[in-house]
Amino acid sequence: MHSNYYCNQQCEYFPCHDNVDKEAFNCLFCYCPLYLKPICPGTSRYIIGAAGQHIRDCSSCSFPHIPANYDRIMAALMDSMELVTVRVSELYEAARALLVSYASLEQMGGEERKLQEQEADRVYQNRFAKEHLFFGLQSFDKSCVKDGYFQFGEERFPCQMLSRISPSSVQRGYFAVFHAPDWKSSYDASVLNEKQGKQKIELLTQYYIELWQNALLDAGRNWISMYLTRKEGVRAPVYVTDSFGPGFYGMPVTVLSKLAEMIPMERAGVCVTETGALLPQKSLVCLYLILSQPLPFSMQDCASCLGSKEGCVNCATYHRGNKQ
Ligand code: SF4
Ligand code: SF4
Repeated sequence: MHSNYYCNQQCEYFPCHDNVDKEAFNCLFCYCPLYLKPICPGTSRYIIGAAGQHIRDCSSCSFPHIPANYDRIMAALMDSMELVTVRVSELYEAARALLVSYASLEQMGGEERKLQEQEADRVYQNRFAKEHLFFGLQSFDKSCVKDGYFQFGEERFPCQMLSRISPSSVQRGYFAVFHAPDWKSSYDASVLNEKQGKQKIELLTQYYIELWQNALLDAGRNWISMYLTRKEGVRAPVYVTDSFGPGFYGMPVTVLSKLAEMIPMERAGVCVTETGALLPQKSLVCLYLILSQPLPFSMQDCASCLGSKEGCVNCATYHRGNKQ
């Protein structure tokens, strides 16, 4: 017998699932260890109990009895990433306000603004309104926060942001990983309007797809900050920093590849390519710190960003690296 396989052919229920090869039926996980995980890789459904509660029904799932799934079950058991789902429609107000600002709609005249708003709203309704964002959140201990850098295992990640924060005020930290709904910007023939012309609509559609994605990423970042404030502040008030991370607010973008080895980004649908880029393209990997006292400065805009030696990938503070 191997430590990852055991077959109990004497069991009165053997094989308790008939869609798995009898000769390779694994009884090691007779009671599935993932049952209490909110999300599992199996095929569960839910039934309503007598008291109205949701009860997971695994009767049609043979996942734990397939030997090849052993590693996935062990990985899921060790996975401490919390997945939080939010409907895009819940972020609509915040994201639309951001989109209006990004597109400078308020500075446009009547007819032009009307055309732009119609296209922005059409793109939202057709492509984003029914989507969800999936946030992967993983906490880390305050001992990882040092003066000017993070220490994760053997790895040291410099971060200029930390030169402004006293490690003693940090209670905990979080990684957050998520991506915007991944709509490819393709031409939608149903909206061809002869007056406006096909090319203009294509470009405008593409423009607003990207703008909505950016707005949803930023609205999502703010939503996570509020979520962590509620979650961590149940017993006593806490202060949650705005997000910062690889490529922005003082951390080199080159740490992404190392982060990908440390946190299961794929659980949130994100990966890092061999060249160090995020996929999908509109993805974010960021950090938050839970503090016992508020920061004496705002992180909401680029004005207070320290940049980093490699610069910010997002904005004009690109080479503010040595500013203290
Ligand atoms: S998994 Fe458990 S119930 Fe199913 S056949 Fe094996 S020992 Fe019996
Ligand atoms: S038996 Fe299948 S559905 Fe049930 S918890 Fe395990 S993996 Fe998930």
